[in-house]
Amino acid sequence: MKKTHSIIAACAGLVVALTGGLVAANFRTAEATSAGKHFARPVRELATKIPAATDLTRYGVLGDEQALRLMQNSAPACQAALKAAGVTFTQVPAMQEGECGYREALEVKSSLADFVSSPGAPDHLPMTCDLAARLHLWERHVVIPAAEKFLGSPVKDVKLFGTFQCRTVAGMERLSEHSFAKAADVAAFILADGREISVLKDYYSKGPKGEFLREVRERACDIFDVTLGPDYNEDHANHLHLDVGGDHACR
Ligand SMILES: [Zn+2]
Repeated sequence: MKKTHSIIAACAGLVVALTGGLVAANFRTAEATSAGKHFARPVRELATKIPAATDLTRYGVLGDEQALRLMQNSAPACQAALKAAGVTFTQVPAMQEGECGYREALEVKSSLADFVSSPGAPDHLPMTCDLAARLHLWERHVVIPAAEKFLGSPVKDVKLFGTFQCRTVAGMERLSEHSFAKAADVAAFILADGREISVLKDYYSKGPKGEFLREVRERACDIFDVTLGPDYNEDHANHLHLDVGGDHACR
């Protein structure tokens, strides 16, 4: 997709004076994308006060660093945001497994599109609330509109290989973000009309299935800290790795 960069100084109705050092990021709504517009994160110091529950139905929330940090650091604030967006979930007891584990994690019961385990994957998909919130933003503002645009159908299920797994990054010694339930591996999408779109089978197809998959991967980079797909390496030939671990990569 052709990318243009622009800075929009808009923050809850306030016009913000931007300094020369600000780097624009590409935060886009479905509407903004079709109109060729891009959003930028607002200047951190001038962010407005945090609403009672961060509104995940608004794509522009991705430009609100303060609200996003609150969701990252406060499980109650994050869970309130999920509830306000209509996501239902259960809380998962804290778990420790050697150096791995999680606290205040949850399992999503239903969302706009549901998260389900791929065959052979663990039945349970524990994830930090921050990851659940980012997945919801991606699903709501990127995946479903892209499916309607390219494939003419909304998405019913997002199939995951898993979220939590105590392991190191392939070929490295450091622990993967999966070790802390901060990463999801997306294998496929099931459309409302029953079609399955698979990363392994369809990512490089020239038709609409491939266009859909490549768009949802590219735009995941605006939402997650790390997005890795088939273009990155063979380890990711069959899934999109999405994490909220704090590193930055988009490949
Ligand atoms: Zn992964």
